[in-house]
Amino acid sequence: MNDSLREACGVCGVWNHTHASVLTYYALYALQHRGQESAGIAVSRGQNRPLALHRGVGLVAEVFDGADLDRLQGESAIGHVHYGRSGDSSMLNAQPLVVRLRSGSLGISHNGNLINGTELRRQLEQSGSIFQTTSDAEVLAHLTARAGREDIETNLLAALRQVRGAYALAILTPEAMFAARDPHGLRPLSLGRVGDGWMVASETCALDTAGAEFVRDVEPGEFVRIDGEDVHSSRISNSDVRPAPCVFEYIYFARPDSNLAGRNVHQVRKRLGEYLAQDHPVVADVASGVPDSSISAATGYAEAADIPYEMGLVRNRYIGRTFIQPEDRLRQLGVNLKLNPLDMVIRDARVVLVDDSIVRGTTSRILVQLLREAGAREIHLRISSPPYRYPCRYGIDTSSRGDLIAAGRTVDEIEQLVGADSLRYLSEDRIAEAAGGSRDDFCTACFSGCYPVSVAGDDADPHRGRDECE
Ligand code: AMP
Ligand code: SF4
Repeated sequence: MNDSLREACGVCGVWNHTHASVLTYYALYALQHRGQESAGIAVSRGQNRPLALHRGVGLVAEVFDGADLDRLQGESAIGHVHYGRSGDSSMLNAQPLVVRLRSGSLGISHNGNLINGTELRRQLEQSGSIFQTTSDAEVLAHLTARAGREDIETNLLAALRQVRGAYALAILTPEAMFAARDPHGLRPLSLGRVGDGWMVASETCALDTAGAEFVRDVEPGEFVRIDGEDVHSSRISNSDVRPAPCVFEYIYFARPDSNLAGRNVHQVRKRLGEYLAQDHPVVADVASGVPDSSISAATGYAEAADIPYEMGLVRNRYIGRTFIQPEDRLRQLGVNLKLNPLDMVIRDARVVLVDDSIVRGTTSRILVQLLREAGAREIHLRISSPPYRYPCRYGIDTSSRGDLIAAGRTVDEIEQLVGADSLRYLSEDRIAEAAGGSRDDFCTACFSGCYPVSVAGDDADPHRGRDECE
């Protein structure tokens, strides 16, 4: 849990279903954890008519009511939940983005971050394009508009061939729905069937929620066109790019009931906990997880260590987005508001507290303090990922490197700062193993500094491309 960091967005789309907007709405509910700042749905109302759009700032439940959904009648729709980057204006950057091109209406839902987005925007502006938002989706819309062919698919492919970085896209026109995933497959995207129609979503939990049946993941570098009954697939680039899906989806972002590349997220997290217990054992009375994202790992730890799993902290389920005061003392109350220790469980116990990650260190520091106040005899922090040392360039806003507690610090130093009796992290190899591969099969840049897509022209960036890291 955390307020200062922004996580990836969620995208979805439904093609050819009488209740397309309602299914999209349900899917957005299921993807709410991927973005809480704004939500939107664009609907196709048939050939030659512009897409209808409703979007707003807030949670899905706040943005849509029954009347909004009634107005969004149509047989195809795309949706988006957004967790904007720092400095973004919430409403302006709410998606889907809907524009009118020569070929007709186009809606775009984008999850990820284009590393050459700023550069492309600058070039487009120099040659006369006017931007209304700071989103990468608008860069894609301009590139598509300029591609100059009659056929929208050719134009979209031409646009995608110019961008670098992370994208999972759901795109809608009155004639077709498109889905695309960048050549590294950094952000997830799955394809399902719903009735006689089709569905795409960032996570399989959204397919489940909308009653769709999982068919397969959209492949890294795949561009999919869905029209009529069929799904047509083509490649975005011919180059031999090695896929590098985000390993942090398994660790923290994705919902435990989602499957990524055929692996269930809860089961992977449980294995991370088991590995933690094997690699970093400690004599303790109970194991507890930081709710909700670390519960799976904590149960894995408890089972492997053969100690009881206990609910040491309870999370208030009704918090939503909280306005967190900048002052330290009030920040602590902010954490209190979300998490409360169970004194009766904690008192006099040697506690293993499992969390999925430490980013700025605020949560761990406050939780250690809360558990001590609740009477814990010892607190051993076990983190089911390696030290988070480098900012993500592919859609997760961690502000800057200076904010990351592990950047430039040893584990002992972090242990001291958060005040735990011991602190241990899981290694990069072990997380890759739990996710069913080796380090080279995933993006692990926030831990290793090895970015699979290098940040061209960023001289101040201390990190290298993946090749140079090995
Ligand atoms: P921090 O307090 O900054 O160290 O944040 C660590 C906590 O935030 C952990 O409990 C994680 O579950 C959670 N977390 C990790 N990454 C993110 C992210 N990108 N956005 C929001 N929360 C996160
Ligand atoms: Fe995921 Fe980290 Fe890579 Fe970002 S840098 S895509 S969070 S593994």
